[in-house]
Amino acid sequence: MGEVNPKWGIATKAIHGFGPSDERTGAVSVPIFQSSTFAFKNAQHGADLFQGEAEGYIYSRLSNPTVDAFQKEIACLEGGEAGKGFASGMAATFNAIMTECRSGDSYISSQTVYGGTHALNEHVIPRFGVTAHEVDATNLDKVEDAIKKAKNCKLLMFETPANPNLAVLDIAALVKLGHQYGLTVMVDNTFATPILQRPMEYGADIVMHSATKYISGHGDVVAGCIVTSQEFIDRMMEDVFIDTGGCMAPFSAWLLLRGLKTIPVRMRAHCENATRVAKFLAFHPKIETVSYPGLASHPQHDIAKKQMSGFGGMVTFTIKGGFEEGKKLMDAVQLATVAVSLGDCDTLICHPASTTHSTYSPEQRDDAGVLDNLIRISVGIEDIADILDDLNQALRVL
Ligand SMILES: *Cc1c(COP(=O)(O)O)cnc(C)c1O
Repeated sequence: MGEVNPKWGIATKAIHGFGPSDERTGAVSVPIFQSSTFAFKNAQHGADLFQGEAEGYIYSRLSNPTVDAFQKEIACLEGGEAGKGFASGMAATFNAIMTECRSGDSYISSQTVYGGTHALNEHVIPRFGVTAHEVDATNLDKVEDAIKKAKNCKLLMFETPANPNLAVLDIAALVKLGHQYGLTVMVDNTFATPILQRPMEYGADIVMHSATKYISGHGDVVAGCIVTSQEFIDRMMEDVFIDTGGCMAPFSAWLLLRGLKTIPVRMRAHCENATRVAKFLAFHPKIETVSYPGLASHPQHDIAKKQMSGFGGMVTFTIKGGFEEGKKLMDAVQLATVAVSLGDCDTLICHPASTTHSTYSPEQRDDAGVLDNLIRISVGIEDIADILDDLNQALRVL
């Protein structure tokens, strides 16, 4: 329960990275400070806190001790200076974009992203006079062209592995390119988690997570976070965060701290099971294509090997016969749950084109590799024999 030692390994950090839990009581589990407001010692103390001349808590939209503990923990795991928790992954992305960009500015986003991120780029952000340019970030020349053409470009953001087609982007190369043009570089690390990939080691300025997914790991909370410099967070608090109110709830922070303790073992199990599922599907006669960064057939397998210490729990595939056959498969599974979201202990299966990525137009889906017959599995940590049996029996129905 002592101070954080930066030399600790990742599993130790996952359990102890938030530092001393509660000095007042010695509670081993971080207490849930379910309090909206915090008492001032006197009127002058309140005034000092508001002027930033004293340190302490004021109101939970600004900061909260349980949320602070989670922020320290995620910053420790990503190897960044500071963390910030949000009500959701979308709130995290929105706050980061609006901190860097104001009316007249633009930013570059990779083209294959979470459906909500695409909708944010296309429908929400333009209402503030900020333009998002989505480009195929597997092609560095296209990214450089887009940066050169963009007006007052401030930010380069991308997702790797990408949702849903699992394209892998070269973090080091994109960071270098972004920095060459003076851009802030943000990586959505939701699919990989800090256990498998730490973009800050490649120079990324901001790492973003939908903490709803692997960080929680149990399908019981919606939350988001970023890890970045203290300077960026101070600017974000002042310019956007405090007055738009996308704060993380203390109970969410507590669930995430609980989830993080087991993230190294969970990720190991997800990787093992997903590898088995990918190999099973790759040899199945009813399957057309399989995408998993760990397969030698994956177009960016070499980049994945370079920047990831494991290939994650997500597998996507296309079935011979298209979406009609895909529907039959999803209706035939018995162990797997047909649902959006990912990263839970439970195996989840979904059809991105009609659900998570229905925010894209059909043409945009084609460009982004969100094929109509693509099925996405978030491989859980059940016994692998049971997961494979389930897929096998479902495929037999087709
Ligand atoms: C789910 C998801 C998001 C959005 O996060 P929410 O917590 O649902 O707001 C962003 N990026 C990726 C890669 C996601 O999977």
